[in-house]
Amino acid sequence: MSIIRIAIDGPSGAGKSTLAQAAAAALGCIYVDTGAIYRTIGLHIWKCGADPANTEAVAAELPRLQVELRYENSRQRMFLNGRDVTEEIRLPEVSQYTSSVSAIPAVRSYLLEMQRELARTHSVVMDGRDIGTVVLPDAEVKIFLTASAQARAHRRMLELERRGTPQPYEEVLREIEERDWRDTHRSAAPLQQAADAVLLDTTTLNFQESLDALLKIVQERGNVHEAI
Ligand code: C5P
Repeated sequence: MSIIRIAIDGPSGAGKSTLAQAAAAALGCIYVDTGAIYRTIGLHIWKCGADPANTEAVAAELPRLQVELRYENSRQRMFLNGRDVTEEIRLPEVSQYTSSVSAIPAVRSYLLEMQRELARTHSVVMDGRDIGTVVLPDAEVKIFLTASAQARAHRRMLELERRGTPQPYEEVLREIEERDWRDTHRSAAPLQQAADAVLLDTTTLNFQESLDALLKIVQERGNVHEAI
C-alpha cells in the first residue's frame, strides 16, 4: 500500500475544507487543513498584540510557540502551547490576522516541515494555498478549487450564521476580496494554480456535485485504486 498525496489549493470560501474532508473520508486518507495551522499563528499574534504586518515582531514570536496538530475521531484539532484552539481560530479577526502573518516568509518556513512530515507518513488530502506549488510539488493529484467571490461570500455568510457569529453579506464579500488580494499578491508562496493542477470551479455546483467532480479527478489522475 503506497502513499497518495492529494493537494487542493484555492481561495477562501471555495469549499476546500468541507470537500477535502469528505474526499479524505471516501478515500481512506487523513485530511490536513493547513489553513488551521496558519490560523494558530494568526491567533497568537492577535492575542499578544503584535502588528501582524511587522516581519521582525512576528518572527520574534515564533520560538515561543508550540503548534501541534492532533486527530480526535478523525477530526483535526489545533493546539497552541498545549491549549486546544480549534474553535477560537475560526473567529473573523483571526482570518484577517492570519492572512497578514502568512505573507511573512519566516512563518511559512516555520510551518513547512510540519506539513511535509504529515504527507511522508500518511496518505493525505491536504488543502491550502501553496500545497501543489510549494509544500507537495510532487503530489500525485493537484486540484485548484475555486468559485466566484460572490458565491464564496454567500457560503461564508451562511457558515458564520451557523457558527453563531453572523456578519452582513457586503462585509463578508469585502473581507474575502481583501484576503484574495493579499493571498495572491504576496511574494512568499502566493496563491496560484500549479501548472499541473486541474481547475475545479464550484460556482454553480452544490456540495454533492462538487464532491463527485473532485473524486472523478482523483480517480483519473491518481490511479487511486492501486495507490491506496
Ligand atoms: O484556509 P483558510 O481560510 O482557513 O486560511 C486562512 C489564511 O491562511 C488564508 O487567508 C491564507 O492567508 C493563509 N494560508 C496560507 N497558506 C496555506 C493555508 C492558509 O497562506 N497553505
